[in-house]
Amino acid sequence: MVRFVDVPNMQRWVIDTGIETAIAGIAGTIEEDFRRWPAFDKTARVASHSDVGVIELMPISDDRTYGFKYVNGHPTNPARGLQTVTAFGVLADVDSGYPTLWAEMTILTALRTAATSAVAARVLAPAGATTMAMIGTGSQSEFQALAFRRLLGIERLRIWDTDPHAMDVFERNIRPLGFDVVRAGSAADAVRGAEIITTCTADKTYATILTDDMVVPGVHVNAIGGDCPGKTELDAAILRRADVFVEFPPQTRIEGEIQQLAADHPVTELWRVLRGEAAGRTSPDQITVFDSVGFALEDFSALRHLAGALDGTDYYADVDLIADPADPKDLFALVAAGAAVGAPV
Ligand code: NAD
Repeated sequence: MVRFVDVPNMQRWVIDTGIETAIAGIAGTIEEDFRRWPAFDKTARVASHSDVGVIELMPISDDRTYGFKYVNGHPTNPARGLQTVTAFGVLADVDSGYPTLWAEMTILTALRTAATSAVAARVLAPAGATTMAMIGTGSQSEFQALAFRRLLGIERLRIWDTDPHAMDVFERNIRPLGFDVVRAGSAADAVRGAEIITTCTADKTYATILTDDMVVPGVHVNAIGGDCPGKTELDAAILRRADVFVEFPPQTRIEGEIQQLAADHPVTELWRVLRGEAAGRTSPDQITVFDSVGFALEDFSALRHLAGALDGTDYYADVDLIADPADPKDLFALVAAGAAVGAPV
């Protein structure tokens, strides 16, 4: 049997745990796994592009557990009532190859993306930051806000989205949670006075959400929306002035903001900073950019955290996903005439 966490069970787990506590738990597992980076068999995700979006498979493994996520990115989906990003994922036992966990990951992706952003910001953002600009207030945005409050103490948000409805929804969701929210009139207005800028927009183009003049010394940019070839958010001049931190360079050079730069432009891998092998922020005037594209290890960590939280709960169902005959040489017994359907053989 494989443990299956469907959407209602994921909702129950997150609500019962508390969103910020769930994010903090996932963040802890992400940090733990990034610190054992060399233990993983890593690969850039496998992407299938179309004119309107991308469908990706994101595999990773250590010597005990294999994981993958299926995820899409379709920026025009909301215009037809669908989400930009949806996902599900699997963990499997390396020893037998049998899957052990199958889970919805649309919600879990929002949690792990926010957790990763905050883990990075803890080593990159200026000390004592209190205000974050949020450019793009779609599906990921509330999760980002909660992660930055829980892990960095950010209480003040300056928001901007080209879609007023997206800002209405964000304010409706976030104000009751005790945030101080300022609705800006433009991206340039939103970044005023913010020590951290999160860009979280979706558009399949080389967009310029932040121009060079909008990023002043000392700011940390958490750039999560540029995550595909031909889909970026930052003026390349910002990247040239900044210290750029990435997840997995072979993937980020294709998909991240740095696709705009030379292939040998220096970047620092986040795992090295978390292990204390490379510096994060070193001076108050430094501009730091976390060029996030989303890496398979973050999904692996989120699933691993979830798997650990399931024991002794009813947040999952056992599903009969793997045909497993009593005699491993007799798969046919399961479909032979007269076979007892659904019964163990
Ligand atoms: P979404 O479609 O729900 O929200 C995106 C928002 O950006 C929309 O409200 C849209 O109106 C706004 N927007 C578009 N262009 C803008 C502009 N020029 N200025 C201001 N706002 C603008 O998408 P989402 O699920 O919130 O995802 C946001 C982005 O993050 C997507 O590009 C997605 O691919 C990416 N993403 C990255 C990671 C990661 O790990 N790095 C994970 C998940 C999603």
